[in-house]
Amino acid sequence: EGQQFTVYAAVAEEDKCVLAVVSDISRMKRLEQMRSEFVGNVTHELKTPLTSIRASIELLKSENRDAETRAYFYDVLDMEAERLQHLIDDMLALSRLENMREDPAAHPVSVAKAVAASVKRLKPAAQKNEVTVSCQVDPALYVCCSPMRLEQLFGNLIENAVKYNRPGGTVTVTGAVQREAAAVRVQDTGIGIAPQHIPRLFERFYRVDTSRSREIGGTGLGLSIVKHIAVLYGGDISVESKVGEGSTFTVRLPLACPKAENNSLPD
Ligand code: ADP
Repeated sequence: EGQQFTVYAAVAEEDKCVLAVVSDISRMKRLEQMRSEFVGNVTHELKTPLTSIRASIELLKSENRDAETRAYFYDVLDMEAERLQHLIDDMLALSRLENMREDPAAHPVSVAKAVAASVKRLKPAAQKNEVTVSCQVDPALYVCCSPMRLEQLFGNLIENAVKYNRPGGTVTVTGAVQREAAAVRVQDTGIGIAPQHIPRLFERFYRVDTSRSREIGGTGLGLSIVKHIAVLYGGDISVESKVGEGSTFTVRLPLACPKAENNSLPD
């Protein structure tokens, strides 16, 4: 259904032999469309901060700007450069993940430590948004992966839970063994996600509200990275959400034995 084919046919030796080649081009067309969409998205994401950077430079060049105005445009330059840096970092992370079938450097890592490191890094953002983050992760919970990638997975989910929250809201991270896997839930009391967006949420550059997400400072690649990390280590991710009430993202990863731990995350 929905497939397209190209049929090549050749007739040889006075109708004695017929050669037909049926080629499924729907996959090729889909890949080509995805590639061109990706290039379009990247170009747009690069152009937006660049336009702002060029406009700020132009304004800074004129001599009759007071100190306050100049300081404002330097801040804009700083912010847009940071945005470009995030975009490049996320694109590199995603491209590496897309080319990996398994991680030979994976080893048992404490989930509680990875969550704690992510929460620590996001504390200033949570304070700024007036959001309280609390964690309850079983210290005996270990999964086999790279500590850096596990921290990025939880970091992206917790960052979203903080960003798409409301002042005075909460983020609750829980981790426990569930059906013989490590299940980590990141629950927020934020804006929620309407059901029609859920199936596309993990696609690269997919955003529910593009202008709002950009304003908040996202690259649109965070959840795609999360999904790739979960799948790389044999896990999966699911989401439940209600508009106006909040969202819960649940990551499930195969359990690992903690004995061989070689964890480089700080305490
Ligand atoms: P972004 O960088 O835009 O945050 P993500 O890939 O992390 O990109 O998320 C994709 C989109 O999913 C976001 O733009 C936002 O619309 C929506 N989203 C992600 N997490 C949440 C959440 N916890 N609550 C509400 N919406 C969310």
